[in-house]
Amino acid sequence: MTLAYVGLGANLGDPRRQLRAALDEINDLPKTRMTASSSLYRSAPLDHVDQPDFLNAVAQIDTDLAPEALLDQLQEIENRHGRARPFPGAPRTLDLDLLLYGDATIASARLTAPHPRMHERAFVLRPLLELDPKISIPGKGKANALLPACGSQKIERID
Ligand code: ADP
Ligand code: MG
Repeated sequence: MTLAYVGLGANLGDPRRQLRAALDEINDLPKTRMTASSSLYRSAPLDHVDQPDFLNAVAQIDTDLAPEALLDQLQEIENRHGRARPFPGAPRTLDLDLLLYGDATIASARLTAPHPRMHERAFVLRPLLELDPKISIPGKGKANALLPACGSQKIERID
């Protein structure tokens, strides 16, 4: 089994409902068990700022799925929630990013792990630190040391 982390985000439709449903669907994935999930956070968009605020969370899972098989499953969940990609960074009903797959470093055509921008995003680091205050991001260092650089990003924990 590999301990992996999935970042969830939504800013269209009913984001809270979509995140709750997605957490259930992640828990129900084959060969996978959700071991913890963070609180929900509300964050301001970082690019294309003229769009609704996001709700975000992070799930910790134990999985026997291989990394790309896990990505396939996450994309199927996104698609079931009506995810469209009209342009990069567009508002979304549901975004599921594979943040960490154990301590693996992966660079394939479809998958980069650790997720290439996670270390500079408060909406990832805050919920991740809630789940594991000592967590490190391979190649980047301790998450708690990376968070201060995200100080200008607006984020609040909402439950
Ligand atoms: P973003 O989340 O960056 O706004 P998308 O969710 O549309 O954009 O993902 C775009 C592509 O990123 C996907 O087709 C996927 O193959 C690729 N990708 C690469 N690494 C990852 C990762 N760690 N998690 C999720 N998607 C990834
Ligand atoms: Mg994504």
